Amino acid sequence: MGQLIDGKEVAARVRAEVKAEAALLRERWGLVPGLAVVRVGDDPASRTYVSSKKKAAAEVGFLSWEYALEADVSQEALLSLVHQLNEDAAVHGILVQLPLPGHLDTDAVLAAVRPEKDVDGFHPVNAGSLLLGRPGARPCTPLGILRLLEEIGCDPAGKRAVVVGRSNIVGKPMALMLLQRHATVTVCHSRSDLPSEVSRADILVVAVGVRELVKGDWVRPGAVVIDVGINRREDGGLVGDVEFARAAQRASFITPVPGGVGPMTVAMLLRNTLEAATRGAGASGTLTEPFPGAGRLAR
Ligand code: NAD
Repeated sequence: MGQLIDGKEVAARVRAEVKAEAALLRERWGLVPGLAVVRVGDDPASRTYVSSKKKAAAEVGFLSWEYALEADVSQEALLSLVHQLNEDAAVHGILVQLPLPGHLDTDAVLAAVRPEKDVDGFHPVNAGSLLLGRPGARPCTPLGILRLLEEIGCDPAGKRAVVVGRSNIVGKPMALMLLQRHATVTVCHSRSDLPSEVSRADILVVAVGVRELVKGDWVRPGAVVIDVGINRREDGGLVGDVEFARAAQRASFITPVPGGVGPMTVAMLLRNTLEAATRGAGASGTLTEPFPGAGRLAR
């Protein structure tokens, strides 16, 4: 039976680190990190995510502001708010909660956020920096997964990593970040031969959004299994993209759903915000690169 990776516990530690570093920032520079969260419409899941992000920001001593816009807000009005936040010196991080209603151009909105304030790491400049192995904000979920791997002492170097899902917010950046850490990376999608690819993975990251898509029997004995999926069961509970009970019998380590990757995403958002504030203050060095050697894409 594999060991559970306790994302809640690791996330609590990351939040404590951020809190301590924020206190230092306040002492040294008189600076309080500020996070602005923009939410459009009344989607209950978005409301929950935004309120948990705001609460987490307050707990580590950040300032935070929520901008709740009507579902029918115009593209111009939304862009104008983003521009206003770009210019506001108290705001170090801007997060636009996705998904946006269909009449809005999500790409244009994400591209309007100043890259230095893009704490989600979704701006094309930051996505490009990741591809090129240059410093820049990284998407929070894959960043959190790297931290989980680090916590269990799993160095991706030389390992076969299989990422199932190729979204811009999880799958693709995850694959690049594992490549940067010298894993041999395979990215799978809906046309891949999943059983065969998954069975070769030393590190398996699944981010699809289909309940128990990955069968436990496909998991290579001793693999580290990271389940990003969040799917709602009929009884209201949550379930991942991996068939947990059977996979846990074969894995060396496995994340539960809930309580695995989810809490790490919010914790890494706080870290990205802290780093944006630090860069804005002109401080250098230690706060900008949480993982030593992560900056460059090596050959
Ligand atoms: P997405 O819908 O943007 O992307 C899903 C990806 O899965 C696509 O690239 C698609 O090609 C691939 N896919 C679809 N069907 C497939 C199949 N049958 N076999 C293989 N690949 C298939 O989703 P996303 O935003 O990347 O999110 C994925 C899941 O992770 C969702 O359940 C989401 O709720 C969850 N999520 C969790 C967190 C967290 O913090 N825990 C963060 C982000 C997303």
